[in-house]
Amino acid sequence: MAEKGYCVKCKTLKEMKDEERVTMKNKRLAAKGKCSDCGTGMYKILGGKAQ
Ligand SMILES: [Zn+2]
Repeated sequence: MAEKGYCVKCKTLKEMKDEERVTMKNKRLAAKGKCSDCGTGMYKILGGKAQ
């Protein structure tokens, strides 16, 4: 189940590869990965609160 994120290089939504879940400083969940096309790092904020 690949998340899609905004790639600043492709300037569009792209599928994320090497996706991992991270918790940001404000305790929000995010997905961190790389653009499947160009490999640029991308984040997607998932919105939910970490447990
Ligand atoms: Zn890209």
